Formats: sequence, C-alpha cells, structure tokens
Amino acid sequence: MGAGYIGLEMTEALHARGLRVTVVERLPQVLPTVDPELGALVSDELRAHNVDVRTDTTVQRITKSGDGLLVTGSRGLDLRTDVVLVVVGARPDTALAETAGVVLGVRGAIAVDRHMRTSVANVYAAGDCVHPYHRVLGTDTYLPLGTTAHKQGRIAGENALGGDREFTGSLGTQVLKVFDLVIARTGLREHEADGFTPATVATVADDHKRYYPGAHSIHIRVTGDTDTGRFLGAQLVGHLASAAHKRVDTFATALHHGMTVADLEDLDLSYTPPLGSPFDAVQMATQAWAREHGWFRSHRVDAGIPPQAALSQ
Ligand SMILES: Cc1cc2nc3c(=O)[nH]c(=O)nc-3n(C[C@H](O)[C@H](O)[C@H](O)COP(=O)(O)OP(=O)(O)OC[C@H]3O[C@@H](n4cnc5c(N)ncnc54)[C@H](O)[C@@H]3O)c2cc1C
Repeated sequence: MGAGYIGLEMTEALHARGLRVTVVERLPQVLPTVDPELGALVSDELRAHNVDVRTDTTVQRITKSGDGLLVTGSRGLDLRTDVVLVVVGARPDTALAETAGVVLGVRGAIAVDRHMRTSVANVYAAGDCVHPYHRVLGTDTYLPLGTTAHKQGRIAGENALGGDREFTGSLGTQVLKVFDLVIARTGLREHEADGFTPATVATVADDHKRYYPGAHSIHIRVTGDTDTGRFLGAQLVGHLASAAHKRVDTFATALHHGMTVADLEDLDLSYTPPLGSPFDAVQMATQAWAREHGWFRSHRVDAGIPPQAALSQ
C-alpha cells in the first residue's frame, strides 16, 4: 500500500528477493511527488519488471485468509497475498515534545526557528520531528529527509553549545532509484509555488553525445517564475547511468543561490562526449524554458520579438 518513494524502493527490494509484488496507490499515479508525466515513466518501469501497478485504488480491508491475507478495496481490488506492507507517509513523532509544552507547527511537527530552537528555553529540535524552513518559499514546511536532519542536527548541537548558526533552508532535494530509473527533484512544482507565477517546460535531453555509444535520454521538467525569470525547481527522470542524481544537484545549487532560469546557461559545466554535451542536459532544459517564456539572461524579451530570434542574438 502506497507508491511513494519508500513503497517503490521496497517494491524493488522484494522483487529482487523473487517475490511477486502488487503496488496499490490511492492517487491516479505512482510517486505523486513528481508530475504525472514523470510518474507514468515510473509506472512503465515497474510494469517492465512485472510489478502489478494499481493506481486510483484504495485499500479498504485487510483480513486473514487461510495462511495469508485478503486485501480488498475500490475498483474491484481483491488480492490474496502473504505480506502487506503499509507505506503511506511519514508523520512527526512529537509526543515527548508535546508533554514538555513545546509549540507545534506545520503538519503537527515541532515549531523551531532557524537556530533550531523550540518554544521552550534550552530545548532544541532537529530532523523528521520539526518543520524545516523552505529556502524558496521563505516559510516553514514539512519535508522529512535525511539530508535536512543531518544539517539541522549539527546546527542544533552547535547552538546548544553556545554557537550562532542558522539553518539556511531546505529545497526538498531528493533522489530515488527504481530498478533502472533514477527520479530526482529539487525545489517547487507548479502547484507548490505559492506567491509566484510558475510555469513548467518539459525537455528530453541526451545525457551525453548521441554519437558516443550508450547515450540515454533524461526527461527534465523545469519550473520557473514567469514574472521574474527566477528558477523555482526541477524534476528529472533518467536511466541509472545518466547521472540524473548529480544533475539534480546542479539545479539545487542554482536554486540555493536564487539564480534565474536563463542564468543557468552561463554555468561553466564540464564536457566530454562520453559523459555530456557542450551545453549539459541541465542547460538544454533551462534554455527550453527561457525560450518558451521569453527570458534572456536577466531580461525579459519584449513582446513582438520572437523569443527564439532574441536568444540567438
Ligand atoms: C525506508 C526509508 C528510506 C529513506 N531514504 C532516504 C533517502 O534515501 N534520502 C533521504 O534524504 N532520506 C531518506 N529517508 C528519511 C531519513 O531516514 C529521515 O529523514 C532521517 O532518518 C531523519 O532523522 P532523525 O534523526 O530526525 O530521525 P530518525 O533517523 O528516525 O532517528 C530518531 C531516533 O530517535 C529514537 N527515539 C525516538 N523517541 C525516542 C525517545 N523518547 N528516547 C530515545 N530515543 C528515541 C528513535 O528510535 C530513532 O532511532 C528514508 C526514510 C526511510 C524510512
């Protein structure tokens, strides 16, 4: 039950142990943390490995049946199985903090400031139990990730010893491997970009020069603010060998520093034909966004000039 990243990682693990796996997801797509177009690629990958994928399907009942279990639900779900794995999301564990009178915040997580201070003097908190500050939104959010927990833990520890460090914010950068696919994202998707006028442009770029054997396509969706040209987020799906997991980090670095989408074109990224292109896949994707939305470097191209023509000047 549940086709989030842990459900999908467990699917691969169980498949590797020789088990037949059915993934049941209430929402219309697997991996709802990425756009449906990319979720569809993940479904294809699961099905290519004989995983039975049931989306738009809600488990309503699990009962004992002989030696196993009977799982029933919407859309005629009626499965006999040995094991049911319930992986339907994370919730902050705040019972102890509540007892201590600590104020809770977003999604019931412990409210902390950027020094990781709670509302109770001398009590610091970090990790999955707190709501991290989001660097692009400028507000608190709930993004339980190991990367965030590690950073916050150090900051809380240092400040508890008298230091003065601030958590600079999460971008929700994450990556996942499902069989031969890597799915990665950083920053905001359109529906998450409160306070912006977001638009997303999809690109399919080669991970390295096509004439050099072994090239793979990377599907990249770039989201930017059409009012300011500011880069807001990116989602990538590519083959395990396509270095999508490191390309998302280029996007994350740009996002951390508040770059515009068009400015990513100027980054001096590495190139050799077996590993990349003179303009990396990351830059091809941002160029496509800039072209479509008429942004050239830090200036919006005036209406009347075809964006393509302006970009080539
Ligand atoms: C299957 C899985 C895969 C994941 N993969 C990734 C990944 O690839 N990348 C990523 O960034 N994140 C990943 N995460 C998320 C990541 O593991 C968490 O964000 C991170 O572990 C949070 O760290 P934490 O210290 O806040 O909590 P935890 O790691 O959960 O540690 C909390 C510890 O506190 C202990 N504890 C709780 N209450 C008490 C108490 N009262 N007294 C004493 N001890 C107590 C718990 O037993 C636990 O050991 C994954 C999570 C899961 C479940």
